[in-house]
Amino acid sequence: MRSEEMSQVKSYDYIVIGGGSGGIASANRAGMHGAKVLLVEGNELGGTCVNVGCVPKKVMWQASDLLESVRRDTSGYGIYAHVDKVDFTELVDNREAYITYLHSAYQKGLDGNNVTVCRGYAQFVDNHTISVDNQLFEAKHILIATGGRPKPLAIPGGEYVIDSDGFFALRELPKAVLVLGGGYIAAELSGVIHGLGSQVTWAYRKGLPLRTFDQMLSTNLVELYQEMGIGMWQDAVAKKIEKVGSTYQTTFEDGRTVVSECVIFAGGRQPNTGNLGLEKTDVTLDDQGFIQVDKFQTTTSENIYAVGDVTGAVELTPVAIAAGRRLSERLFNQQTELFLDYHLIPTVVFTHPPIATIGLSEQQAKEQYGEEELTIYRSRFTPMYFALNEYRQKCEMKLICLGKEEKIIGLHAIGRGVDEMLQGFAVAIKMGATKADFDNTVAIHPTGAEEFVTMR
Ligand code: FAD
Ligand code: NDP
Repeated sequence: MRSEEMSQVKSYDYIVIGGGSGGIASANRAGMHGAKVLLVEGNELGGTCVNVGCVPKKVMWQASDLLESVRRDTSGYGIYAHVDKVDFTELVDNREAYITYLHSAYQKGLDGNNVTVCRGYAQFVDNHTISVDNQLFEAKHILIATGGRPKPLAIPGGEYVIDSDGFFALRELPKAVLVLGGGYIAAELSGVIHGLGSQVTWAYRKGLPLRTFDQMLSTNLVELYQEMGIGMWQDAVAKKIEKVGSTYQTTFEDGRTVVSECVIFAGGRQPNTGNLGLEKTDVTLDDQGFIQVDKFQTTTSENIYAVGDVTGAVELTPVAIAAGRRLSERLFNQQTELFLDYHLIPTVVFTHPPIATIGLSEQQAKEQYGEEELTIYRSRFTPMYFALNEYRQKCEMKLICLGKEEKIIGLHAIGRGVDEMLQGFAVAIKMGATKADFDNTVAIHPTGAEEFVTMR
């Protein structure tokens, strides 16, 4: 670097690249402890979660759930509700206004912790220096929290699909939608779009979607979605997509075809590492292209760290936040041994009804410990919400217990309200709860959650 450039380099204690879940959390925590922090963000504050992830998704899920309840569940209670109109554009406008409010709330939070925000895309110049447009910044510690983006669909006509970002950009809801993919996003968007009134076909490559989850969850989901009228296409590998007038015809390897107004592909995400100039640093990527880190989130360069989706760790907002905060506690608050334990992370899939899960699936537990070491408890019931209804949606729950003491190593549920049940049970399980601890807890009646403490 030339000397006149060096003289213009601005110095910080901590540079954070990426103002998403992990970056903002880490920057704020460092600022709270008095560090001089620069946060660099190339887009809107909040990253994937706020702009094209958790937040708009949950708004759409709520809208869809509400509409489904009004249309389907009220008459059993003697309430005859009529829906005059569903204004999708108004829903989208209100959702985006809420997101705009969140941007200012995040900015306020950063201001409150004296974090300087620089708008633009960062590139490394060397292990201690980055450039943003024509400005240079250096710091003792640099965090990469650049997240990820959707993977493209590599088949002929793959350019016709939209991804989850494209779904959130829609201002009108297509009447017939094909969803491709077998994971969280495909599961959630299929339910949301169907609930909002469109015809949905969900096609996944294998026998079941959500394959890494406990099979009880995916089999129930397939049954429930089929019952609701979603076209569930298993073993469906898309081969090509053709534009036919204003519609798209998707052909699968076995010859089946679907015509839809819109095709959504959700087949996983890839890390944002491409334009970071990492070749100018000692940071290395793993064989999947994610940034390689140790348990302290330190990369192969000793002063550069990475958290969140860019590391290929569990791709969830609270995981990125927890890793980012712990890192700042370690670097700026003398908590030198602090790191995030990635074991037993609870998660909810916002399907209709939702899925809540923590720990090992039954299959994983059998592989890890052997069947004879396990006791499995299951409960299948109709939540009281549906007691007066013709439509009686089931809820199913499972506890996986290990050894004689029956330590709970897996808890899984699908059904109305399980999304709000999981957090408390996750605390107990993280603390090492056994089946006896659950049994010793007096139930709350009448709730669905009481099933977890009364299983036989
Ligand atoms: P991000 O939030 O993606 O932030 C990265 C930021 O870095 C972005 O703002 C980007 O613009 C910026 N950036 C990238 N490169 C540069 C650069 N060179 N210079 C400057 N800035 C840069 N998780 C949940 O826990 N619950 C949910 O319900 C949930 N729903 C989801 C729904 C969808 C549709 C999707 C796609 C994801 C969902 N997730 C959910 C996952 C969650 O959004 C991510 O795990 C989380 O946002 C990851 O945070 P992060 O900080 O690693 O990255
Ligand atoms: P996921 O990793 O959940 O699932 C992607 C799945 O799509 C793969 O497992 C694979 O399943 C299938 N797939 C991959 N490639 C193809 C292909 N070419 N054709 C058809 N199917 C394919 O990814 P998502 O994109 O759904 O979500 C990304 C991440 O975001 C999630 O892992 C999750 O961590 C996070 N997220 C969290 C949410 C929440 O917390 N509620 C909600 C949404 C996202 P198979 O091998 O079975 O075919």
